[in-house]
Order: sequence, then structure tokens, then C-alpha cells
Amino acid sequence: MSLDIAYSTDVNDYIDPDRAYEFYWSGLIKDKRNFLCPGSDCMAQVTCANLDEDVQDMKVSPHFRVYGSHSSTCEIFNKIPLKLHYNEASYIKKEKQSIDESVVDLFLLERPASYYDEPSNTPSNKLKTHEFKAKNHSNNTTTQENGSIGTIYSVRAIVGRYIRYKKDKSIIYRRVNIQGKDVNYRSVFKCIWEQDLESLPEHPVVYYGWAYINRLKSNHGYQIKFKKPFKKGEEELLSTIMISDRLIDSYKVKKLVITRLEKIIKNEKPLAFIFIFGRPYESISKTGVKYANFSITNLDMIDINYDCPLPKEYNK
Ligand SMILES: [Zn+2]
Repeated sequence: MSLDIAYSTDVNDYIDPDRAYEFYWSGLIKDKRNFLCPGSDCMAQVTCANLDEDVQDMKVSPHFRVYGSHSSTCEIFNKIPLKLHYNEASYIKKEKQSIDESVVDLFLLERPASYYDEPSNTPSNKLKTHEFKAKNHSNNTTTQENGSIGTIYSVRAIVGRYIRYKKDKSIIYRRVNIQGKDVNYRSVFKCIWEQDLESLPEHPVVYYGWAYINRLKSNHGYQIKFKKPFKKGEEELLSTIMISDRLIDSYKVKKLVITRLEKIIKNEKPLAFIFIFGRPYESISKTGVKYANFSITNLDMIDINYDCPLPKEYNK
């Protein structure tokens, strides 16, 4: 049976597979087997399949699987709604509502400062874990600190959710709230070379396409150059993104970003499938060439893939 959420014994919180993936690659989660069933008083072991894969696509997206037996009172086992108690802070209430409705995910452009904090209570054995988990059910503060389940903080997670919802066939009911606006998952993604700069949405969305990745001559970072250009009437404008080593170094999930970048630039054709959340701006180079570039200050806003992780119609 697959689960939407599981209890992580590494971070002492209920998390979804996208968050588990980020925590694994930032080093907070040590093993894909360090999860328990989220049901009350249930100690069934859960594993997060594909957590250790640096590839995410329709075939290998991370998901939870139960491999122990549930307690007789477990809500999952009895197929009744989970009773997770959240902190009463108003934003948590709002998030909880969206979990209950299972329709709208909230995409936030900044993670809470405490997102990657080490858990304060590290249970050393099953019994302690059990006590802590039980405690969490009645008075949960960890959820507030780490943000909760309906909220996502990275483009990688938007892509991950899309893949998961497509797989479980719930995609038509799913929407994501970005800066106060609900949009359906499909309309969040825009292919770069099909866009005219004059008619782009005012608000940022997720642009995607194949791109070349090169190490900068200065050796201080990478340049991502999309294969195909944006349009502006009859004109064609190439699009690039610069990623400095400094930006990578300050990023918690850098292990994943570095693993992917280093593998890609070793290829004869250093191509990657890129998703970036933002809005391009026009600029002119010293030699007079016009560009439509993206600037990036938070690596959560970009997702770098070896291949197109979405269905065929996106692969362009
Ligand atoms: Zn259970």
C-alpha cells in the first residue's frame, strides 16, 4: 500500500515524499527505511522507495511503501481519516484545510528559517520513537517548525507532485497556489520556445526546455543556455541562466545539484532538461545580441534533470 505521508524518525515529523527527498539529499534523513506509518499507535515500518536516486521521473518518483504490519487501531489499516493535530497558528490551519481537501498545494518562494534545523529530540530506540510520535499526535510543534504537508518550497517539488498526481490519476483535481493564485498543475508549466515575450503572463510561472550546461570560463560557476529561443514577434531571443558556485555552496540540497551538474557536463553533449520558476527579462550583450534571461537567487527555483521527467508531450 502506498502512503501520502509517513513519520520520519530522523526529523521527528510527518512528511511527504517530496520533502523526504529534499531532507535525504540535504543530509537530514540518513536512510530510506527510517520511516513509520503515520497512524496512531502504529509502528509499521515504512520505506521511501527511490529516495536515494538522483533521477526523478515518471518511472522512479519517490513514494512511501509500508512493509510492516499495522496496529489494529491504525487509521490507515482501518481506512479512516488520520487525526494529526497541528499547531493552532492560523497559517497552519489554512494549510491543514488544504490537506483535508487534498486539492490545493501551497507553493512558497522562501523556506522557513528553521526548515533544515536538526531535530531537537532524537529518539534512540523504537520505544522512545513511539512515545515521541504519540506526543506529537496530541501537541505538535515540530509541524509548525518544519512547515507542513500541503506546502512546497521548490520547483523540484512542483515537478515531483505533478508526477505523483499524474500517476495516481488525481491530476485533474489538483491545483497549486502561487502568490495567492490557484492554478491547475498543467498550466504552471510553459515551454520556452512556444512563448512570445510580448504575451507572457505577468506573474512568474515554471518555464521549461532542453538546455546546454557549461562551466563558466572564469571557473566560478555554470551557464545554462536553452537550446531554443523565446520569440518576440519575428525576433528570436536566446535565454540563459547563470549559477555561481557561491549560490550552490549556500544551498542545502547542493549534493543533489552538484551530482547532477557534474554528471551532465561530462557528457559529449552536456544537455539537461531544465525547469525554472520566474519571468525572463530582456537584455543586450556588449556585442549587441539580445537575450531573454532569467536571474536566480535561490536554487529551489530551478530543477535540473538528465532527461525530461514528465510525459512525452513536454519533451521539447
Ligand atoms: Zn499503520
